[in-house]
Amino acid sequence: MTKKLKPSTLCVRGGWKPKNGEPVEPPIVQSTTFKYDNSEEMAMLFDLKKEGYFYTRLQNPTLDAVAAKIAALEGGVGAMLTSSGQAANFYAVLNICSAGDHIVASNEIYGGTFNLFGVTMKKMGIDCTFVNPELPEEEIGKAFRPNTKALFGETISNPGCRVLDIEKFARIAHRHGVPLIVDNTFATPVNCRPFEWGCDIVTHSTTKYMDGHATQVGGVVVDSGNFDWAAHADRFPGLTTPDDSYHGLVYTTAFGKLGYTTKLVAQLMRDLGSIPSPQNAFLLNLGLETLHLRMRQHCANAQRIAEFLHGDPRVAWVRYCGLDDDPCHDLARKYLPGGSCGVIAFGLKGTRETAIRWMDSLELINIATHVADSRSCVLHPASHTHRQLSDEQLRAAGIAPDLIRLSVGIEDADDLLDDIRQALDRL
Ligand SMILES: *Cc1c(COP(=O)(O)O)cnc(C)c1O
Repeated sequence: MTKKLKPSTLCVRGGWKPKNGEPVEPPIVQSTTFKYDNSEEMAMLFDLKKEGYFYTRLQNPTLDAVAAKIAALEGGVGAMLTSSGQAANFYAVLNICSAGDHIVASNEIYGGTFNLFGVTMKKMGIDCTFVNPELPEEEIGKAFRPNTKALFGETISNPGCRVLDIEKFARIAHRHGVPLIVDNTFATPVNCRPFEWGCDIVTHSTTKYMDGHATQVGGVVVDSGNFDWAAHADRFPGLTTPDDSYHGLVYTTAFGKLGYTTKLVAQLMRDLGSIPSPQNAFLLNLGLETLHLRMRQHCANAQRIAEFLHGDPRVAWVRYCGLDDDPCHDLARKYLPGGSCGVIAFGLKGTRETAIRWMDSLELINIATHVADSRSCVLHPASHTHRQLSDEQLRAAGIAPDLIRLSVGIEDADDLLDDIRQALDRL
């Protein structure tokens, strides 16, 4: 079949293509290694001259089937699963950067990624400049240096719920001869496919909606195959000059559009190793099979709850791009026409303690360090993930001290609204 399948069909049928008599569900190949009849055959695998399995740190049939499904969903040429979303963002950048290099990232990103880029990668000699994504293109362009290797942003930011102008970011990146990397965790490929807007590489924390059941921590890097590394050969020597650890093989020459993904697996995963277990990849695949159905319910529930919060006098402010007067509503109409996600950011009138009292009064909605899950949950960064920061420090990190992140699940919206209302009544 050559017709391009729709995302809903790919959620169910993408990736694994069982042959005659094979299981319909990708089997859990829980084996570290694979057996060969002669040593020559395995030597060819080690030299990347033949495709095949030899050690699960590099490739495993369960992982490959799930990676292929996600690549198809995003419209990419290749993907690599990782053991967490953190590892995915780290690998996506490290695949094209080394000590002495620099990246530019939106300052509206997940706190873990902010630390990874701003602290840990800096210690490795890879510098990062954070920019306000709402600034004009010329202003953002000023952050670029001769050694800049990538631009990074999130489709919908965690926890601020802002929508990235992907086309604008792609233009800025390409004008400077670097790829745009977008973390598409909150939107998922069901609601947005950043490659269609010029993005080059997509990452996910699959821990969130893709899994959806809070069963596995995982990540993925997907390559569009569109960035012309060879046209900027001087800037990306890791992809365009010989790799001594593979007898002088050049990734872009030997693998063409698959050069970036092959290097991710054959070099970074080989040397650093953060693969998910086959069992976890299997669980992720079960989640993916219903992703399109769950996203619909997450979005419908969140829209109703955002509208309720917006109209309640005890609520100080709400950020949800589905609201008509949200500052990101126009961007959402362009990039997320079918819905955004189930995450809402809002603040209650009062103090930090008001937020805590409201959360403690919830009966159905969980207080949990999680987001984008089928069960509704809340988190108050000021008293949980960022509790060591003062109000001033929180504001400097772009987080309002009163911000509550409400991750709306797929329960019945009436029950969720009842819980939210009774907790407000008890303030
Ligand atoms: C959670 C999250 C991450 C980190 O993923 P883990 O799977 O927890 O390592 C990265 N980006 C975004 C947008 C996230 O929400």
